Amino acid sequence: MPKPMHRSTSIKEVQRVTNKRTVTHYRRAKASSPHCAICGNELNGISQKGGKTRRTNSRLFGGVLCAKCTAEVIKIESRVENGDMKLSDIGIKHRNYVLQLVAH
Ligand SMILES: [Zn+2]
Repeated sequence: MPKPMHRSTSIKEVQRVTNKRTVTHYRRAKASSPHCAICGNELNGISQKGGKTRRTNSRLFGGVLCAKCTAEVIKIESRVENGDMKLSDIGIKHRNYVLQLVAH
């Protein structure tokens, strides 16, 4: 059984041969690239470098939603504002973001 510090899902096991026997080494897994919160597609326009230097979109919901889903949310928000659609008609995935826009 690995030590508790090696049981995290962000730690990967790597098998290495040293002195003719196989040893398990542990290595921190690569961070995954950011994905859209609604459709799960990979976000465009975000630099691969992590940390403080990571650049993101300055658009509405940039770094959270993809362009398609942002357009969809804005469309639904304008329908709600005009009274063509009720808040209860919106899907659960879009509702949070539409509410954020309406409150703005
Ligand atoms: Zn999306």
